[in-house]
Amino acid sequence: MAQYNRMNVLQIIRMEGPINKAEIAKRANLSIPTVMKITDEILEKKVVHVVGKGESNGGKRPELLSITDSIYYIVGIDIGRSRTSVLIMDLKGTVISRRTMKTGRTNPAEKLMERVLELTENVVLDGGISRENLLGIGVVTPGLIDLEEGRVLYSPDFGWENVDILSPVKEKFKLPVLLDNSNKAIAMGEKWFGIARDSSYFVCVNIGHGIGSAIMENGELYRGNSGSSGEIGHITLEPNGSLCECGNKGCLEALASGKAIAREGRRAVQEGASALILEKAGYDLDAIDAKEVFAAAEEGDVAARQIIKKAETYIGIGLASYINLLDPDMLVLAGGLTNAGREFIDQIKKVAKERQMKFAGRKVKIRVAELGEQAAAIGAASMILKRFIENGDEILKMR
Ligand SMILES: [Zn+2]
Repeated sequence: MAQYNRMNVLQIIRMEGPINKAEIAKRANLSIPTVMKITDEILEKKVVHVVGKGESNGGKRPELLSITDSIYYIVGIDIGRSRTSVLIMDLKGTVISRRTMKTGRTNPAEKLMERVLELTENVVLDGGISRENLLGIGVVTPGLIDLEEGRVLYSPDFGWENVDILSPVKEKFKLPVLLDNSNKAIAMGEKWFGIARDSSYFVCVNIGHGIGSAIMENGELYRGNSGSSGEIGHITLEPNGSLCECGNKGCLEALASGKAIAREGRRAVQEGASALILEKAGYDLDAIDAKEVFAAAEEGDVAARQIIKKAETYIGIGLASYINLLDPDMLVLAGGLTNAGREFIDQIKKVAKERQMKFAGRKVKIRVAELGEQAAAIGAASMILKRFIENGDEILKMR
């Protein structure tokens, strides 16, 4: 609870500063002595500073606090399926510099990590930030992560099993480094700097090439017993449905993800049900991606329209299940498919509403994520920020 309060106070200062302690106490629903204890701690770590004095309310003029944005910086590395992004942000979440590259070949992992480290070095140079001002590096990637050992246990996207990608980063930069899963990082980013900043219990569903999710309560990720929580993409919705990459059949991901939409688009073309999808892909069957199917649907192509409708329905059912099970205050939709347009999102929301239980999740809001394609990298950096706020001394000592 103490950590949660600290995070909450910091968020209020970040969002509303310059702000005085009495006002923080009111916003955070905490006593003034509690707020003073927290602000003394974070003032000492120079995370916040006094920017001046506010108007008097009869007594002494109160000190106004603001986040220090020029002392500590954090690096976030998002090694994605097709793209890798690296950024540096300050404690306010302002991105100072950022670079991306095609992820390309992922095996052997050491070769990929050499390129990632080079990219990171360039981002640090671009930002003109000296090493003493870096708090640490957050690294995220899809797959199952062993948080304690800092290893990728299993990554179907990259063909990795039990791979250590953290040691090269530690050796090169000699800074605190944390590794986590990208879906969890996206939720973290949206909590700290995005649409879910005021939410206390939300689920972030990443609908892109695959479908994954993360559950967050009071600023903490719900990880489950072995860390694999949130695999909404692999709930079975059709017992004999399409084969999924996980080996199962009829998973949500196999029915409604970007790759499922693309696969169905290619099938429609092969079966002669749609010529427009092929036209949208420049008459190259292999070039058909979800984007081409959406484009054809928009122009009224019947087969494309059916594929999209099926995806909307299954994703909506997935969300309704989450609402029934967890009763969150918000469902955040992230990932590439959220760029498909308002209509797609509205239909998903409509299905979720129709399929959720009558009195379940009455107040749930379904929103699109705010951080876009930077979400995972910002989330990666936020993991270091969170650790710093919880245990700043440890982070400072590790540098
Ligand atoms: Zn599956």
